[in-house]
Amino acid sequence: MTKKQKKVAVIGAGMVGVSAAIWLQRSGHEVTLIDREGVAAGASYGNAGILACSGIIPVTTPGLIFKAPRMLLDPDQPLFLRWSYLSKILPWLVKFLRKANTKDMNHIVSKLHHIMYDSVDQHMALAKETSAEKFIKPYSYVHGFTDKAHYKKDEKYFNILRQHGYELIEMQPDEIAEFDPALKGKFGYAIRSTSDGKITDPGAYIHALANDFKNKGGKIVIGEVSEMILKDDRATGIKFVDGTVLDADQIVISSGAWSAKLTKKLGLNIPLETERGYHLEFVNPNIELKSPVMVTTGKFGMNSMEGRLRCAGIVELGGLNAEPSRAPFELLRRQVHALFPELEYDEVREWMGHRPSTPDSLPLVGAFGNTPNVWAGFGHHHLGLTGGPKTGRWLAQMISGEKLNEDLTAYSPDRF
Ligand SMILES: Cc1cc2nc3c(=O)[nH]c(=O)nc-3n(C[C@H](O)[C@H](O)[C@H](O)COP(=O)(O)OP(=O)(O)OC[C@H]3O[C@@H](n4cnc5c(N)ncnc54)[C@H](O)[C@@H]3O)c2cc1C
Repeated sequence: MTKKQKKVAVIGAGMVGVSAAIWLQRSGHEVTLIDREGVAAGASYGNAGILACSGIIPVTTPGLIFKAPRMLLDPDQPLFLRWSYLSKILPWLVKFLRKANTKDMNHIVSKLHHIMYDSVDQHMALAKETSAEKFIKPYSYVHGFTDKAHYKKDEKYFNILRQHGYELIEMQPDEIAEFDPALKGKFGYAIRSTSDGKITDPGAYIHALANDFKNKGGKIVIGEVSEMILKDDRATGIKFVDGTVLDADQIVISSGAWSAKLTKKLGLNIPLETERGYHLEFVNPNIELKSPVMVTTGKFGMNSMEGRLRCAGIVELGGLNAEPSRAPFELLRRQVHALFPELEYDEVREWMGHRPSTPDSLPLVGAFGNTPNVWAGFGHHHLGLTGGPKTGRWLAQMISGEKLNEDLTAYSPDRF
């Protein structure tokens, strides 16, 4: 190793960790990628596969505080709470709901825009000359509404996207059917954002990226990290639950919704929660969508993925440990069948995963002040597939000592 080369341990092999590992490897470092279950075992496996460059309006829009209680009580709304978890999540929830105002929303939008706007290009750069390239498709992203009056309720948010430079095309029913015959008669009005994209199989995509990393000399270790080994204000390595140790000069925590368990060992109390999300995947469906669709009435995404139709969404507040609930699956199923009564398929697969969620809807990207050789790359909420590659690239640049011409203050890991 040259003096500039570092031994880097990346904890968590989801979209963020794999991206960081690849960019670190390209910068010449000796990288070990660690996951307790294997590559793409967390949220990065089961998401909706949408490169939602335009998905930068946070959940915390003004008025949420009044809408949320009603949504929780209505079984047809995509927000669920495991009531036994309420006392645990309350401090986080209060901080989260406090952001549901115009000033904070605008701040979040501009900082998410900074990460997400060029995501399709970032994915292309990450996957360049690897077998993962074939999974990336630049596509429009369709938001389907019942009718124009329904759209009008959200128009102010689409206007914010327009102000940020997104091209949004309004579509009447005949234009929707012309754009994608599979959507004929499904929506009375739609908005098509043209700068987004899709990953045709998120799990297979991240595996292909990780294989390329391995083939180029990167190490992948299956094991659960229990803590960082600290000496003064630096980490010298990591310890696994079985007691084994791995020395490292630099450590990246990209463990998704589980990251705060590791940062606790650094003496930090980062308010990270999980927004549990669900998918149903219809295998060999008789419906193939041209581009990803957001069904705005149910707030779930639909995306055709190589012989499967994946429908994913729902926010359930209920922590990391509880088993999946039945009600979110049933709601998704009812909504999909109501929109596509003609849907036929061979089997349906169910999945639940954990979005890593901060109260201010922004990820943590950068070094921790109290241990400057430990780096955060987590907290991407609903947009970690989209924003993972740029996050990984930024981390690799900072770890390599490059000066970034970007202001990353808003993502500071020390802001809480
Ligand atoms: C239903 C649903 C739909 C979504 N749709 C989209 C979408 O369309 N577009 C989009 O951009 N985003 C979407 N998201 C969000 C996106 O999936 C996440 O933000 C993203 O996957 C987070 O990636 P990550 O790498 O941070 O975490 P993860 O993918 O969760 O990876 C974390 C990894 O860390 C490992 N790990 C944890 N603790 C340890 C430990 N102690 N030791 C070793 N390993 C550990 C885990 O096993 C896991 O593999 C969706 C999420 C859900 C749930």
